[in-house]
Amino acid sequence: MTHDIAGEARRRRTFAVISHPDAGKSTLTEALALHAKAITNAGAVHGKGDRRGVTSDWLEMERERGISITSAALQFTIGDTVINLLDTPGHADFSEDTYRVLSAVDSAVMLLDAAKGLEPQTLKLFDVCRYRGIPVLTFINKWDRPGLDPIELCEELTQRINLTPMPLTWPVGIAGDFKGVVDLSAGTMIKYQRTAGGATAAGEQHLDAAEAEADAGQAWQDALDESELVVAEDGEFDVDRYLDGSATPVLFGAAVLNFGVKQLLDQLVELAPRPEPRPDVNDQPRPLDAPFSAFVFKVQTGMDPAHRDQVAFARVCSGRFERGMTVTNATTGRPFATKYVQQVFGQQRSTMDEAYPGDVIGLVNATALRVGDTLYEGKPKVKFPGLPSFAPAHFAVARPRDLGRAKQFRKGVDQLESEGVVQVLRSDRRGEGVPIFAAVGPMQFEVASHRLDVEFGVGVELERLPYRTVRLLTNREHRKTIEASRRGEVLTRSDGADLALFADEIALGTLQRQHPDLAVEHLVAGT
Ligand code: GDP
Repeated sequence: MTHDIAGEARRRRTFAVISHPDAGKSTLTEALALHAKAITNAGAVHGKGDRRGVTSDWLEMERERGISITSAALQFTIGDTVINLLDTPGHADFSEDTYRVLSAVDSAVMLLDAAKGLEPQTLKLFDVCRYRGIPVLTFINKWDRPGLDPIELCEELTQRINLTPMPLTWPVGIAGDFKGVVDLSAGTMIKYQRTAGGATAAGEQHLDAAEAEADAGQAWQDALDESELVVAEDGEFDVDRYLDGSATPVLFGAAVLNFGVKQLLDQLVELAPRPEPRPDVNDQPRPLDAPFSAFVFKVQTGMDPAHRDQVAFARVCSGRFERGMTVTNATTGRPFATKYVQQVFGQQRSTMDEAYPGDVIGLVNATALRVGDTLYEGKPKVKFPGLPSFAPAHFAVARPRDLGRAKQFRKGVDQLESEGVVQVLRSDRRGEGVPIFAAVGPMQFEVASHRLDVEFGVGVELERLPYRTVRLLTNREHRKTIEASRRGEVLTRSDGADLALFADEIALGTLQRQHPDLAVEHLVAGT
């Protein structure tokens, strides 16, 4: 049987929502799925009261409605389009995992709270999107509540992140008194009708200009005038500028009421990039219809507390994945049978019988798999570039509590490093046996010490280092200058990069005034 792999890839939209905690990511995710008719009643996901039960609700839902969900990706179809929404954990566990997810998507939705605009974690995640050339659609949420002025929000995008807003809709009525949106391409008004508690997809009424004028009066006129101003400022919609990352289509809405969510979904289907051939380590794009290949972007342990299992999540880059197929791990050259792992996976979650480029597969008990590994079927071998390390912001010296377990400690540290749980830095000054853990988010330290304890039987002591500012040292000779000044320290990462650490920007600034030629550079997110 032949499969139309290119056709299947064209149907896929694989994206992540980037946002600051509380901007409404979970609410939007549910609302998107709701609109895709995967769920008929938002209450099924919302639960009552504690919304943190979402994951287990999803498992239940999955059984009931046959949609495929893992904690890493939500898949649903809308018409002929297959949507893969990858989760970027945004709360306390904000770490490198979150960034790595962005290596597995083709686009992102930047979700802003209308009252807050761009917030710190949104900015960090946006930096990664820009660095990786990921196109971004912007959804300004919570328009049902008092918020900032829409023009102000658009200006923030231009001024703070140099991203030109191209409004596709514009709110009618000020934040807090939301009547609907102007559909700028049609010149009509989409008027929303509230449903009880946002429990079902919001009803929509399409009004032509005259009807909108009669219905919303001055608010309609204001919306037209304001949107015109922004469009006149280079904000005319142009799909190429969205795809090249220089501009972002902007939509307004209120996820909790399902306002504007359908428009967002329509635009994702219409505009968001499809999976493209992924360049391998030799920079040769792997055709979508080449035999199966995928790369591991996330490894999660302990998803099932009873089994302490490890799940490796891989994004399919080419070909068709079929459960039971034997693939090769490009890093070790070893074959890897997917039948067994998928059966285990199937009992706990959904069984994915087949997958195409853009989809995410979860491989249970794939203990041999590491973040960045390539899996492929048949010959010749293919290897995709490893995943980048990100600029760490937290540092801690790690020591085994019991020196008698130094060997297990070393083994454990190597393992954690190869999985990308933490970055490991060393220096001659501190000694080969004294690793310094470096993390993007402090939660990574907790995960690392917990795993050393449970899996390797080594209790660790972590001594946090008072460094907050990190730079890449580009001239090894300057290491002495930094260390002699006592204002910083230089540590070497396993990939050979020399990282110069300072207490803060002030300490670095002082040193730079004394040594204007100091060869340090910013670590961009993703290096
Ligand atoms: P997350 O942390 O980004 O996943 O945010 P949640 O989806 O958990 O939402 C955070 C809070 O904002 C919750 O109390 C939501 O009910 C609320 N929220 C989300 N979307 C909207 C919205 O459109 N309007 C209003 N008023 N509240 C919202």
